[in-house]
Amino acid sequence: MINLPRLKFAHLPTPVEAMPRLGALFGGQKLLVKRDDETGLALGGNKTRKLEFLLAEAQANGARCLVSAGAAQSNHCRQTAAAAARYGLPCTLVLYPTSPGETLPGPHDPPDGNLVLDAWLGADIVWTERAHRDETLKQVFQQQWDEGKRPYMIPYGGSSPAGAAGYVYAMQEFMAQTVQADWIVFPSSSGGTHAGMTVGARLFGYRGKVLGISVDESLPVLQKRVADLASETADLLGEKLRFTADDILANADYLGDGYGMTSASEVEAMRLFARREGLLLDPVYTGRAAAGLIDLLRQGFFKPSETILFWHTGGAPALFADKYKRLALGL
Ligand SMILES: *Cc1c(COP(=O)(O)O)cnc(C)c1O
Repeated sequence: MINLPRLKFAHLPTPVEAMPRLGALFGGQKLLVKRDDETGLALGGNKTRKLEFLLAEAQANGARCLVSAGAAQSNHCRQTAAAAARYGLPCTLVLYPTSPGETLPGPHDPPDGNLVLDAWLGADIVWTERAHRDETLKQVFQQQWDEGKRPYMIPYGGSSPAGAAGYVYAMQEFMAQTVQADWIVFPSSSGGTHAGMTVGARLFGYRGKVLGISVDESLPVLQKRVADLASETADLLGEKLRFTADDILANADYLGDGYGMTSASEVEAMRLFARREGLLLDPVYTGRAAAGLIDLLRQGFFKPSETILFWHTGGAPALFADKYKRLALGL
């Protein structure tokens, strides 16, 4: 395996902890959590691991500023803004409303949730509608390029092969922790986490199952996205591995009303993690994945003898977004 250039700023290895009080509620399986909500960069999360490789790639390309995009409460954009600040690079974020029907904020509206942190971190924000996100992102990038600013483009969710490599190495880290787990369960959206873990599982001999709970895509779309990205990531690492949709274990039964639309099952999961383990989940990603995990536990999907590890990917700053803060009181 080729050793990719990497900047080291994440707090690693992230701990693995037991969740005995949560586990006691269900079929007696041992439940564990890997704390990638504590990767250390501006409140942490899974994007920090990707950014160690993305920033190294940006430097290797002679980049002098970063451009990326996401939904208003994007954790990826917040961590990208922090990484940019840390390496002295200006950062422009193209943001769009989370869900259809939401309006763009006015220039004097106070920011909320992740947007507060984007502002503290000094990112320039360009607002657009979701339908125009691709063209706006291209325009912003082209304009900076034409102005001689040497921008480096980080795709949605940081899910390029270099970004996904962060989770190949995360699997190496996990294997070195010698934690026995039959299942790894986590939220999957832009696919970089899922692709990296899948490649890493293969390369480092993980014998359990890597199960991504889809946050926003149908099963075939997610499986194809993750398989393609996994193959490209293996290429980047100089490994001759090919992945097809059948190699990607995913569940898309918990999409509810769509991306960012938090429902009662997610609120229940968020409350259980908080009140039984003191763990804060987020309303968009980990809340959905935990709701899926809890439903699968209730359905008897896992064997009683199995150990299930929930890989916490972060996201708690969104708890403070106007759209989500009332969830704390129930629905
Ligand atoms: C981005 C994100 C995910 C999804 O990761 P992908 O690599 O985009 O699939 C999961 N959880 C949180 C908290 C995130 O911010």
